Amino acid sequence: MRLLLVEDEKNLAGALSGILKKEGYDTDVSFDGSSGLDNALSGIYDVIILDRMLPSMNGIDVLKEIRRAGLSTPVILLTAIDGVGERITGLDAGADDYLAKPFSTGELLARIRSLLRRKTKEMREGTEISAGGIRFDPGLLLVFCCGKEIRLTFKEGRLLELLLLNKGDCIPKDRIFDKVWGFNTDSEISIVEIYIHHLRKKLPAADCGIVIETIRGIGYRLTETG
Ligand code: CA
Repeated sequence: MRLLLVEDEKNLAGALSGILKKEGYDTDVSFDGSSGLDNALSGIYDVIILDRMLPSMNGIDVLKEIRRAGLSTPVILLTAIDGVGERITGLDAGADDYLAKPFSTGELLARIRSLLRRKTKEMREGTEISAGGIRFDPGLLLVFCCGKEIRLTFKEGRLLELLLLNKGDCIPKDRIFDKVWGFNTDSEISIVEIYIHHLRKKLPAADCGIVIETIRGIGYRLTETG
């Protein structure tokens, strides 16, 4: 399990990462908001522990960007202020849990375990879908192809799942948008093209035996190539 800790107080960050590593978690530390966001967007973390007050970009904005990018990584928000308003802001921005400073490390570890249990349960519920030369696990967001594992972001995963479940059929672009991005989104429908582009890059037809075709003016169709 891999954790990301985003905390600018060097002493606290050092102490916490020491404890987390001792508990067996691979732990990376970022000391400011924008490098924390860069790390988080790699999509490799199982839980992110994010301080609310950070230099360069505050924790709430980092969290919003993580969610905007379609990442569902569980996030625990750390804050110095234990107010209801703070808590609501954090949860609205997409935090899964919330811890007011000062907190006991025992409590932090319990919250991490709880989020990991939830994640593991969701992962087990995933059922693989195959096409061409790939197998896709929607719970793990992993594509297995040519003995390799290709990791997708949450939205890429939902998009691929939709294409696979409708293999051979053209899916209208607006339907893809509604299904994957939902109705409460700030994104424009053109985001579908961007994500199709990401998927094509991550899943080259030559290796994967599937191709995502553009049906001009209508939408997209996933077909097997051989
Ligand atoms: Ca801070």
